[in-house]
Amino acid sequence: MTDVVIVGGAIMGSSLAWWLTELGHDPARVTVVERDPTYENCGTAHTNSCIRQQFGNPLNVAVSRFGVEFLKDFRAHMGGDERVPEVLLHPFGYLYLAGDPAEEDRLRAAHAAQQAQGSGTVLMAPEEIAARWPFYDLDGITLGSWGSRDEGYFDGTTMFEWWRRIARERGVSFVHGEVAGVDTAGGRVAGVVLADGTRIGADVVVNAAGSRGAAVARSAGLDLPVEPRKRYTWVFEAARPLGQDLPLTIDPSGVHCRQDGVGPANQYMAGATPAHDPAVDPDDFGGEWEMWEETIWPALATRIPAFEEIRVKRAWVGHYDLNVLDANAILGFHPGLEGFAIMNGFSGHGLQQSAAMGRGLAERIVHGRYVSLDLSPFGVERVLAGEPFAERAVI
Ligand SMILES: Cc1cc2nc3c(=O)[nH]c(=O)nc-3n(C[C@H](O)[C@H](O)[C@H](O)COP(=O)(O)OP(=O)(O)OC[C@H]3O[C@@H](n4cnc5c(N)ncnc54)[C@H](O)[C@@H]3O)c2cc1C
Repeated sequence: MTDVVIVGGAIMGSSLAWWLTELGHDPARVTVVERDPTYENCGTAHTNSCIRQQFGNPLNVAVSRFGVEFLKDFRAHMGGDERVPEVLLHPFGYLYLAGDPAEEDRLRAAHAAQQAQGSGTVLMAPEEIAARWPFYDLDGITLGSWGSRDEGYFDGTTMFEWWRRIARERGVSFVHGEVAGVDTAGGRVAGVVLADGTRIGADVVVNAAGSRGAAVARSAGLDLPVEPRKRYTWVFEAARPLGQDLPLTIDPSGVHCRQDGVGPANQYMAGATPAHDPAVDPDDFGGEWEMWEETIWPALATRIPAFEEIRVKRAWVGHYDLNVLDANAILGFHPGLEGFAIMNGFSGHGLQQSAAMGRGLAERIVHGRYVSLDLSPFGVERVLAGEPFAERAVI
């Protein structure tokens, strides 16, 4: 049996560790190395924690379908352990709004792919949107696409904590340390070397290092087109609550906004991809906060006039581990270095993909192939060939 070292113990590293034990890998031969066991600065800690079926590529739809089935039956998937809580899913749905023919075409094509996978996506004319959610100003909107089930907020933190806890209880070692280099003596992976000089031997090293994924790959002599990019979140209270759930609305301006909290809440969450979007240092959490007043709030208040009167409660910056080739996951063994596996580049939709990605990579390690769902289109090979994974529904 192989010795596995996982670099990074956040949602991906913990999912993989748990899945390895679940598929029968000896837990004593799995080590997770994490540089910051508080996890306070990782992508997982800064997420908006939503899940959608509304992807354009059928494989991304299938990955999220498994994700939602897994979280809806979390305790059963975790062996029925009475201590394990059920995971909250608040299925307000995503509502993509189209304001031009190209975006309309994209929504229609994606709808067909989603239907084929059994998703509950419905296309809606502006009148139908207005009848269901009268608070929108739909000026300029020609079509909407709404996920009527299995889309919305989910409590990813609970999944993360219980994957980590059960993996540890089963005997996986979680080590506090920073992987400074991958040991490639002999022309294949032989282990990792930590910043304090400690060496941990391994046949398989998995790069689950989030926004530091390219640095870890570089330490093995490999390039990975993954960059830390800042993404902002604002949480605000509205003076005049909308009185019903706000779907996760993706406006043609690029601003997105959703309900934050279950019940008659008047708290909402918004974000957008900044116009100025360079690669940053993974320790840089400084913010260009003026964009809230300059672009984001005006766009929101135009689409939802009730949001003229709001009060920002808090805001934060997190990092996407953006795969600059195609904004999609990179998963699988690297053909350039035997034993080196990548689980990186999730680009803003990793939380919802963590169940399927952990299962898939665990299958590759334990069985030598994907068993449940063929995830090979996410492989490193496409990256090396410069052939993007086709997915236009990127937020
Ligand atoms: C603002 C924001 C909103 C998002 N919203 C959503 C959403 O709604 N839905 C969704 O599905 N996804 C969303 N995401 C994306 C999702 O949160 C991430 O894809 C996911 O959390 C990535 O998990 P990860 O484990 O791969 O990486 P991370 O959570 O970044 O964890 C990587 C870990 O590796 C450790 N590490 C790094 N280098 C080393 C090293 N050399 N040695 C040891 N340890 C190391 C780090 O300390 C860290 O703990 C969002 C992300 C952001 C930033």
